[in-house]
Amino acid sequence: MDAIAGHELGSLDDEDLLSACVAIEKSRSWQDAVQAKVLGEFASRRPGYLGEAPASLFDEGAGDEVAAAMCLAPRTGAARLDWAIELIQRLPKTLAAMESGSVTSSKARIISEETLNLSPEAVAAVEAQVLDGVADITPGQLRRQVKRAVVAVDAEAAQRRTEEAKKERKVVVSHRPDGMAEFTALLPAQHAVALYARLDDLARRARSTAETRSMDQLRADVLADVIYGNAGPTGRALVQLIMTDATLIGKNDDPADLIGYGPVTATTARNIAAESVWQSLRTDDTGVVTGVGRNRYRPSAALADLIRARDRTCRFPGCAQPAARADIDHTIHFPDGKTEEANLGCLCRRHHQIKTIGENHNAGWKVEQHDHGELKWTSPTGRTYITYPRRFPTKNTTNVAPKPTPINNDPPPF
Ligand SMILES: [Zn+2]
Repeated sequence: MDAIAGHELGSLDDEDLLSACVAIEKSRSWQDAVQAKVLGEFASRRPGYLGEAPASLFDEGAGDEVAAAMCLAPRTGAARLDWAIELIQRLPKTLAAMESGSVTSSKARIISEETLNLSPEAVAAVEAQVLDGVADITPGQLRRQVKRAVVAVDAEAAQRRTEEAKKERKVVVSHRPDGMAEFTALLPAQHAVALYARLDDLARRARSTAETRSMDQLRADVLADVIYGNAGPTGRALVQLIMTDATLIGKNDDPADLIGYGPVTATTARNIAAESVWQSLRTDDTGVVTGVGRNRYRPSAALADLIRARDRTCRFPGCAQPAARADIDHTIHFPDGKTEEANLGCLCRRHHQIKTIGENHNAGWKVEQHDHGELKWTSPTGRTYITYPRRFPTKNTTNVAPKPTPINNDPPPF
């Protein structure tokens, strides 16, 4: 840190620079936590603001005092104060994790947003489930984990909220400039996912070799065709759902995964299963989708479907590109590596290229595939990252929980 403070950045090697970025990020999380505590202490001296004493104009102006001191708009000052109070009162474990440097403010916001309608006990249970290893996942991955935990901690309440939210379904047209308008529909997730899959399928069928329209344009045109009654071939949209047999037959209420959306309640999943054509996938005892290998260069359609169902996204650390748009890559180049499940993984075009560059240059990214579809990535500066297939939790999942990559455990302020 001395070299950074003295701006002798040129004397640092690449790995030092990356380590400095990480240390600064942790320090920023710590600072945000300490500032929240300071604001909380300030609010406690204006008990009317907290609703702990009769309202007074003096107390209610606490946000304005903060705003004036920090040169913020009054509303922003109050928002800062409210956020600090929320962290202290509603999300104490998240605040502690910020103070230890493992949760950034943006991750804390995700936990806050996704737990908004929960009871204090349920919030504590969600925090307990998601905070372990939180430093090693991206905000997008955290949001999925929190959604799943929210459905898991109180399945009945989650189902009640699902039923309540369904009442809000609607179609809206909003005007946009240049002769355009936006047509949006708020729908139960399974309908939205199915409608999009159907439009995408029709758009792909409509695409000829001479087609100059982009996929976005084609899907938009097909949507109009469907509503005008000029749609192409008929068929059913495929909805992919991952749930255990026990949940399907109602023995438990574990959350299920609606592919293309995320966790849904067991009741919603059983409703979808009851009204759809569906297909089962096998998983191993860790919850990873498994299948049979083939010794061919191009993965068979079934094997490609399997790898996409197992991986769900590009397998580069932190990349969220959906598997549907990713390449199926041989971890060890064919023919040295076989065309089988244990040697295949989804990579988006960009990360496929990055991996290919690494195969030809000593300094590039390297990747190995281990059991259960784990990919171990080594960066050009020698950092290692392990990425896992999206796991559908089973009773045994905890046995193979992702091992956190080592993080710097120095005490704050790092
Ligand atoms: Zn990627």
